[in-house]
Formats: sequence, structure tokens, C-alpha cells
Amino acid sequence: LAELLGAHPEEIVFTSCGTESDNAAIVGTLRANRERKHIVTSRVEHPAVRSLCQYLQKEGYTVTEVAVDREGMLDMQMLEDSITEDTAIVSIMYANNETGVIFPVEKIAEMCKVKGVPFHTDAVQAVGKLPIDLSKSAIDLLSLSGHKLHAPKGVGALYIRRGTRISPFMIGGHQEHGRRGGTENVASIIGLGVAADLARRNLTLENTKVKAMRDRLENAILSNTPDCFLNGKKDQRLPNTSNISFEFVEGEAILLMLDSLGICASSGSACTSGSLEPSHVMRAMGVPFTAAHGSIRFSLSIYNTDEEIDFIIDNVPKIIKRLKEISPFNKFTDIKTDFGVGLKGHTHSH
Ligand code: PLP
Repeated sequence: LAELLGAHPEEIVFTSCGTESDNAAIVGTLRANRERKHIVTSRVEHPAVRSLCQYLQKEGYTVTEVAVDREGMLDMQMLEDSITEDTAIVSIMYANNETGVIFPVEKIAEMCKVKGVPFHTDAVQAVGKLPIDLSKSAIDLLSLSGHKLHAPKGVGALYIRRGTRISPFMIGGHQEHGRRGGTENVASIIGLGVAADLARRNLTLENTKVKAMRDRLENAILSNTPDCFLNGKKDQRLPNTSNISFEFVEGEAILLMLDSLGICASSGSACTSGSLEPSHVMRAMGVPFTAAHGSIRFSLSIYNTDEEIDFIIDNVPKIIKRLKEISPFNKFTDIKTDFGVGLKGHTHSH
């Protein structure tokens, strides 16, 4: 794992998941710098960072959430202006989990170094997909999660640059040089090591084969399906991720129909939690309400095949057409209320 990251082995602390790594990095840094009470993060972080920062706000910290533009790119001026002498940590993700948009974390790390503020990046989506060399970087803390690079679920790691001031998050025994108490999950850690080795060897494939499949999938869907558009800056994204908004249809309904064909995708919408709110990432980007609900993420890997891509390309326009025919939001048809058509057994919260 250290080799994949260009780190020293002693700079790696194994954790149980990406969420724990994020919590350990942020809470551990705050505990080590108790005099500072300000956190800088972004509006589009994963809940592992965003919800934690919101919790910390209730505990008395001030949190600045840096904005993104319509393409999901970070407002670098706002970020720079936000950092003050009271800032304890800057935590900005490497790449967004919904859109795949990559943030200029190396530049941010340099900025933080000049200002004397520790910089953490949630690199859960980036590790194994983008080349990362921490020996040439100013990043102080970096979180990753095993299952995002085909390691078992339930293992993660936190990179802590030598000399970084941080207190342990999990307080207990002397494991991990006292930086994370608790017996290590050895089997999964070995799995993560093997996955990291494979990811290092497959990095070129990730950026050629996977990217080509992603582009083919995306271009075909965008040109064969009416009323849809791409979310996230096209040339500034992870090679495997595509987020497409389909206007006037429900993301959850698209997912169910994809699932019935054996196609696994995801929606950023919070519908499953009983909320009508679209994803915070889509809202931060200003995606119109009629489209934010119908945003779908396809994420590919080296284990996908061209045949699978053909199958998706063939079926997505048909699914969207079908859903539009039954959608009460459809601007092209009369309002229909029969939500049940084609969605047997789907108990929707609407
Ligand atoms: N951060 C990002 C960007 C993620 O995509 C995820 C998982 O989806 C996490 C953090 C949380 O990782 P884990 O599920 O291993 O706790």
C-alpha cells in the first residue's frame, strides 16, 4: 500500500474503513491543536467528512464549506480566503464520489503548507485510479477505503505524513505505534495489500481501457437519450465515473429498472431515506430540481467488459422512454398518476 502511494510503510495506519480514516484524521488533528476552532471543507464532501463537520459545528467549531460551480469545480479563491489563523484543518476530497470530479489537492496542500495549516484529503475514490506520489506531495493526511480498490469491505487506511501533529482517534492498546488502538484486521489488511499491488499494476488500464469504456457508455447514452446531460467537468474526472441527469424521471425508478436487468448503478438522491431532497452534491452544483432527482452514477472498473457496456447502451434509452411515458413530470405527455406501472412492488416514499 505504501508503494502505491509513494509513502513510507510507517506512515500508514490501518483502519476499519474510509469513514474511520476521515474521522481519525479530522478529530485527531483537532485534538492535537485545541487552540484552533475553525475547519475548512467543501460543500460536496462524502458524509464521512460532511456530517462529521456538521457535528463538530454543534460542538463549537466554525465550519466553512467551500462552494463548487455548475461543473462541480471548487471555488479556489473562496478556499484561499477562508483559511485564517484560527483554521485547525483543511479537509477537501481528492475526487468526488458522485461526479468523479477531481479537485486540485496538490495545489491546495501547497497553499495550506504556506499558511501552516494541516491538510487532509479524502482520497477514497482516487486511490488505485489516479497516480498518487506522496513523496512529492505536501498532503499531510490521506484517507482511503479498501473496497474501492477491490480489497475486502471493512478495511481502510490513513496516511499520516511523518511529523504531522495528530492525536489518536481510537484510544486503546499500542497497535499501529499507538496511533490506532485495537487488534488489526490482519486478513483484510493483507487483502488490501494485494489489492494495492494489483491497482498499481493496473493503473494504466484504469486510465485507458476503463476510461475508453466509460467514454463510450457516456457518449452513447447522451446522444441516444433525449433530455439528459452530464454532471461534472468532462475533462477533470476520474476515468471510471459518469454521472448523468435524466430530466423529468426519478433516479430511484431508473435504478430499479436497471437492477431488474442486472445492471448496478447508483443515484445520489436521498429518496431511500424518505427525504425528497436531491443529493447535496447536485444541489451544491445548482443542478435544476427536475434533473437532480434523476441523476445516476455509473462507475466502471477493469472487471467490466465491452459486452456489458453494449447492454447498458442498449437498455438505458428504453428505460428512460418507458419511465417518461408514466411520469407525472413529463412535460410532453398528459399528467398521469399511475406510478405503479412497470414498477411492481416499489413502495416509493412520494
Ligand atoms: N469518502 C468517500 C469519497 C467515499 O466515496 C466513501 C464511500 O463510499 C467514504 C468516504 C466512506 O468509506 P467507507 O464506506 O469505507 O467508510
